[in-house]
Amino acid sequence: MSNTTLKKEKSNLLEIKNLKTYYPIKGGFLRKTVAHVKAVDDVSFEIKNGETLGLVGESGCGKSTTGRTILRLLEPTDGQILFEGKDITSLRGKSLREIRKDMQMVFQDPYASLNPMQMVGDVISEPIRNFSNKSQKSLKNEVMDLLKKVGLPEDAYYKYAHEFSGGQRQRIGIARALALRPKLIIADEPVSALDVSVQSQVLNLLKELQDEFDLTFLFIAHDLSVVKHMSDRIGVMYLGNIVEIADKENIYAEPMHPYTQALISAIPVPDPRKKSERIVLQGDVPSPVNPPSGCPFHPRCPHAMESCTTEKPVLKEVNPGHRVACHLY
Ligand code: SF4
Repeated sequence: MSNTTLKKEKSNLLEIKNLKTYYPIKGGFLRKTVAHVKAVDDVSFEIKNGETLGLVGESGCGKSTTGRTILRLLEPTDGQILFEGKDITSLRGKSLREIRKDMQMVFQDPYASLNPMQMVGDVISEPIRNFSNKSQKSLKNEVMDLLKKVGLPEDAYYKYAHEFSGGQRQRIGIARALALRPKLIIADEPVSALDVSVQSQVLNLLKELQDEFDLTFLFIAHDLSVVKHMSDRIGVMYLGNIVEIADKENIYAEPMHPYTQALISAIPVPDPRKKSERIVLQGDVPSPVNPPSGCPFHPRCPHAMESCTTEKPVLKEVNPGHRVACHLY
């Protein structure tokens, strides 16, 4: 049985149902809410245990907000977040703190997420100290083990974040995220701030750690080649909505949504003999404060029809495991 088949049979670790995250815009003398930025607007998907779901889309499409809302770093406006079948949407206080042990984040900018005043040993052990009374000796042993697993030398323990390169800092960030042995890691553009030469090293490290620690990933990126390398399934976001979601193979071989088709057509083809026709989209992404009526993609879609301006297409299964939000299907 293939790995993919095995993964399909696994249960859901995370289920997101009709998630909305709106940011209020205040205005006027009384600072009343005058409008909302609809950063995430009715998003649903699931991630199985051990799987990597890639979330891709242009900047500002709501993918990072989706990740942060799942971790409850942002308050959802509506919808449900189920983790191992448990509704965590409205958890507060101690129960929220407990569930956060199982869900960690790897950030885009490792430097900004590491305390420059702390030794790396303290940075990595901090989450463990927050959740246990382990002795200094056992904490140190755990950190040394984590440093080894992320490919850093033991003496990194006594250094500070500024003494490391970007790739090494990201390794520190990964070690910190692993410290509590989470089940889910939300990696938000984890390599986009790194030199191209070290990107693949960090991506390969994440893959190795996924096997070793039995991790499930939500992998957020704007670069389709990076997402392809990492993911089992891919969700494409546009203006706060998921417009297509499918297995990696299907999405790249047979993109169905016109927006996905345009994104994939823009990936450089390494073989110059192969001709690919690039679909150039007209106009810019509209404002999420005042999204277009009907299909949010209709002002830029080369296939837009009359119904697209009035009716919002729902995400529906077109082929097994392949869901698309488009009136063409
Ligand atoms: Fe284009 Fe209409 Fe499909 Fe939207 S619903 S992607 S506008 S064809």
